[in-house]
Amino acid sequence: MSNNDLQQVIRDFKAYLEQEQRKGLKAVPRTVNRPKIIAKFKAKAATVGLGKSAALDQLHQEYAGCQNCPLGRTRNKFVFGEGSADARLMFIGEGPGFDEDQTGRPFIGKAGQLLTKAIETTIDLQREEVYIGNIVKCHPMKNPDQPTLRGNDRPPAAEEMNACLPIITRQIEIIKPEIICLLGRTAAQAILRSNAGIHELRDKFHILNFSGHEVKCIATVHPASCLYDPANKKYVWEDFKKIRALLKKTSTQI
Ligand code: SF4
Repeated sequence: MSNNDLQQVIRDFKAYLEQEQRKGLKAVPRTVNRPKIIAKFKAKAATVGLGKSAALDQLHQEYAGCQNCPLGRTRNKFVFGEGSADARLMFIGEGPGFDEDQTGRPFIGKAGQLLTKAIETTIDLQREEVYIGNIVKCHPMKNPDQPTLRGNDRPPAAEEMNACLPIITRQIEIIKPEIICLLGRTAAQAILRSNAGIHELRDKFHILNFSGHEVKCIATVHPASCLYDPANKKYVWEDFKKIRALLKKTSTQI
């Protein structure tokens, strides 16, 4: 790592501590989640200075054997995320399900197929042009003793999401998308740091800052909910239309 890269990591760490200080942090006691802080800056230090694809590869390799939460012990495959490293649009769901755990790829089951179709038909982009990931990279199961059972999925727990957040945060910092679409309540609440329901959070852009990069985040209902209740498709359609309009607007400004 060059001196410039090291200085950037130190600047980011200083900015992070200042931000925590503004929130009321007076010191970093031993009980504070030090592993989370260390993981966040370790992930950053390992990838800073690389091109986007190389940085994502490096991050992937660094965490492929991750055991930072109990999900690491029961996963079949680590599901890092996939798509264009230069994506203008990123999708984030809550975590891998059965099909994703079997293949190591995000959103490839029935809900994923619906998402892919909606991306292509409503936003007018190909799946390969966007980036798709999850808050947690390993399959949360209701009964971890039955990893080959379909329908054994559950939402990730808060501790699991906290342990995994440094990875998706770094993915966002590397890719620097213009827009992030949060799929479902769990992902929306985790990224927007809110307890509000999905219908309060969706239908509008929330501006977030990732290490100095401003991103417009929009939440929508999870594609899986459209499988159970096709009436939910209208929410995806409305939110995706907003994404499409914003992408068009910003590309004409370039
Ligand atoms: S879910 Fe995330 S933090 Fe937990 S073991 Fe998997 S990669 Fe590590």
